[in-house]
Amino acid sequence: MQPFSIVIHGGAGTILKEDMTPELEKAYSQGLDEALSAGYAVLEQGGAASNAVKAAIVVLEDNLLFNAGRGSVFTKKGVQEMDAAIMDGKNREAGAVAGVRNVRNPIELAAEVMHNSNHVFLSGKGANDFAIKQGIKLEPDEFFFSQFRYDQWKAMRDSDNYSLDHTHQGLEELMKDKKFGTVGAAACDKEGNIAAGTSTGGMTNKKYGRIGDSPIIGAGTYANNATCAISCTGHGEPFIKAVAAYDVAAHMEYKGLSLHEAMNEVVHKKLIALDGEGGMIGVDAKANISMMFNSAGMYRAMQHSNGQKVISIYKD
Ligand code: ASP
Repeated sequence: MQPFSIVIHGGAGTILKEDMTPELEKAYSQGLDEALSAGYAVLEQGGAASNAVKAAIVVLEDNLLFNAGRGSVFTKKGVQEMDAAIMDGKNREAGAVAGVRNVRNPIELAAEVMHNSNHVFLSGKGANDFAIKQGIKLEPDEFFFSQFRYDQWKAMRDSDNYSLDHTHQGLEELMKDKKFGTVGAAACDKEGNIAAGTSTGGMTNKKYGRIGDSPIIGAGTYANNATCAISCTGHGEPFIKAVAAYDVAAHMEYKGLSLHEAMNEVVHKKLIALDGEGGMIGVDAKANISMMFNSAGMYRAMQHSNGQKVISIYKD
């Protein structure tokens, strides 16, 4: 039987054990476990990798703890604008949305763009109009509200600072204690097809319609059966400049590196050279998994059909 596997992340950054309470740690682990199980169940039943990716991400988007969907960070104007992308490595079809509001699960809208439009990338009001036309589930602003992200934004809104953080503390703490709460998944199904997806609220206090790497095909999200499926998390700007997700695939394709070797080049060399703090997860078409980061921690989890299952937060 072709092996199958799924790997997910809930953001990377300065995630230190000493800053965590046992309750919060448990809540994060549980959230990751629920998402992992949802995605793995799809694969176990013979579902497509892209559906497993979507199922896992929907669970993370619905969880207030993660900066995607419900619980997304606030922009300078005090609203939530979300980005998401999904790519299917079987045919390299892709769908992405940026700056969408009130969409309960932006990853579902990205999948809708992939399956039911002639386009790859929709943004802002147009993407919202498409969501309405396709009958995608919308929610009022209150649905996305979380007190700790609101407090985090309140501490910053009168400044020109912006932040990738999702700590509960004040501005100074926010700036030194970097954390990223984006979510993502990559999966390899029983057919040996792979897919990846990423979803985020972006950065606290972001303005000018800032968009990070997450919804950009090749930067934060990429999949090709011939190489790998990747979802990134971290400081979006350097990830865009590094074309980080695609660069892993390029190292595999042109240099014949393994997924692990290729990811190591990008995370620990290319991104470091650009001050790109963060990490990524990925699979190849043989269901090999890699999870790597150059920050202090990354919320992450994986499950393989050989029985291996891992949920972790800090550096091993
Ligand atoms: N990469 C995301 C962004 O820049 C943030 C994150 O990963 O948390 O929008």
